[in-house]
Amino acid sequence: MPNAPKPKRRPWLQGSQHNSKERVVRNKFYHSTRWRKLRGMFIKEYPLCVECNGIGKVVDHIKSIKMGGEELDWDNLQTMCHRCHNIKSGKEAHL
Ligand SMILES: [Zn+2]
Repeated sequence: MPNAPKPKRRPWLQGSQHNSKERVVRNKFYHSTRWRKLRGMFIKEYPLCVECNGIGKVVDHIKSIKMGGEELDWDNLQTMCHRCHNIKSGKEAHL
């Protein structure tokens, strides 16, 4: 179809700087010693998933960092298994 409208491409908007920068900051945080230590302590204290009482694998931020939640606040953490965490993350992505 030679007359098909061209898809609107705006390469300069792809992966805006704001987003990529934010992602780098978040990854840095999750690899930080402070977080790993806190996470390890937390999961020892609360080893079970808050949703299904299964074996917890993920220490989740109740209020996500993206939403302004405290990164290292014990009260903002909860243990989840991968399954329940994925469900929660999926819901958050649609907010
Ligand atoms: Zn679970």
